[in-house]
Amino acid sequence: MKRLNTRLLFGLILKPFTELGHKLRHVWGKRKPHSDAITVTGKDTPVSFRELGELYETLHDMAIRDPLTGIYNRALLYDRLKQLFVKYRRTPGRAGVLLIDLVRFKYVNDLLGHHTGDLLLKDVVERISGALRESDTLARLGGDEFVVILPDTDTDQAIQVAQKIIQAMQAEFEVEGHKLSASVSIGITLLPEHADDVETLLHNADYAMYSAKDNKQGYAVFDPSITDEISLARMTLDGILNEDIERNDLFLVYQPVMEFRTGAVSYIETLVRWRQPDGKILMPESFIRVAEKSGLIKQLSEWVIDTACREFARMQQNYAGLRVGINLSMHNLHDFRLVDKIQGSLDRYRLHPASLLLEITETGVMLDPDQVIEMLGQLVAKGLQLSIDDFGTGHSSLVYLKRLPVHTLKVDKSFVVDMDSDEENASIVRATIDLAHSLGLTVTAEGVETAAVLNRLQGMGCDYYQGYYVSKPMPKADMAAWLSKQREKMP
Ligand code: C2E
Ligand code: MG
Ligand code: MG
Repeated sequence: MKRLNTRLLFGLILKPFTELGHKLRHVWGKRKPHSDAITVTGKDTPVSFRELGELYETLHDMAIRDPLTGIYNRALLYDRLKQLFVKYRRTPGRAGVLLIDLVRFKYVNDLLGHHTGDLLLKDVVERISGALRESDTLARLGGDEFVVILPDTDTDQAIQVAQKIIQAMQAEFEVEGHKLSASVSIGITLLPEHADDVETLLHNADYAMYSAKDNKQGYAVFDPSITDEISLARMTLDGILNEDIERNDLFLVYQPVMEFRTGAVSYIETLVRWRQPDGKILMPESFIRVAEKSGLIKQLSEWVIDTACREFARMQQNYAGLRVGINLSMHNLHDFRLVDKIQGSLDRYRLHPASLLLEITETGVMLDPDQVIEMLGQLVAKGLQLSIDDFGTGHSSLVYLKRLPVHTLKVDKSFVVDMDSDEENASIVRATIDLAHSLGLTVTAEGVETAAVLNRLQGMGCDYYQGYYVSKPMPKADMAAWLSKQREKMP
């Protein structure tokens, strides 16, 4: 069966419904006073207005509501926001817009199934609704993301509502006999001061939501200075990547990944760094997203792939069997030239495809899963290894993971770092290891900082580990020196 994509879905189903709704509303408005029926052309039986009214209500609901939760859908949300922009252009005022993301929701889907996931979403919606006023709008943006519109609200009031929602999530949820905790990250924006249009507003809410993930409060208000930072970074990054000559503004560091069974280095992971004119080193977290949003990620990754292959070709000479890991984001997988570019770098430095391992972070929903799966299939057919990075923080479920030709899951460090003191995290790691093994995949734990965590992982049957306990990321010269020492230690 051919799958419908969203545009098709909208064109085939929602749009005709909405149009029919408009037509019915038109007919309804023109009905004769006191009459309760109209004759639909071509049909003998008159249809009562009540029936038509009900039909209209149903169709209208289908066009504006999310079928699972019953709250408004994305289409209505966009419409409301557009109206608010128009309203506040005419009359002074402001509205608060909250973007709410459910932390680790994917885990529920993966471990307990979609049915339980769906039930949890409904309960979450109920709790969010309980924290809102009648005049507020709650909509589902998609997946586990929700948006709340708070009319006539200032920053302080918007923060209060965000706190109320966070508070409402605190008690455990009980879904089909499972006790589940679900926390949220909330990005707060104000309309109209934080954007001029709906897309930008939601983008900015997204930025705020990401900073909320880094703080303990669970919410963050959009900071407009970030847009200046973003445009500046975009310009500079653009400049650097378009330079012909090699510049060392961008450089790579390497961090080893160890194998539990043998104690040997399994591969070295490449991490990119960006040196600023004042000498400050920017970490990838602060520019990868910019690169992704501006499309520069393609050039950046091309540079990383080629540089990593070149530098690695030298290091490998002294450490047989060593591999190199390269981070890619989902965005790269929509670039159909990626396979050729990787092949080009392998050829240039005479590397075997099996010495390259790609770590793929699922930073977003796949736009075209079929294309991505096809491309990954081609890479695997060449002999490359694939690993899903930051596993547990993305959106995908295992159902779709099963379709990807991956070899390894890399459990996100947020679960690993404190797993000796946080039992919930320890059970997530354990469940992931068991699940991965049952799917025939191996597991790498990142963020191993202590011997206690290392031992615990070993007890759970984890295959590989990485973290400050073994080594921090190092520049290539230090990495090469570290590798020779390591080799001396080996029997
Ligand atoms: P990642 O691939 O999950 O890399 C692991 C991150 O955790 C690295 O941060 C590493 O320095 C840090 N880390 C390693 N061991 C420990 C530990 O024991 N404890 C703690 N707390 N942290 C540890 P880094 O270098 O800042 O990289 C952040 C992320 O940026 C990477 O996460 C990766 O997703 C992305 N990234 C890095 N280089 C590239 C690249 O060339 N391309 C793309 N697309 N993304 C990249
Ligand atoms: Mg990685
Ligand atoms: Mg990771």
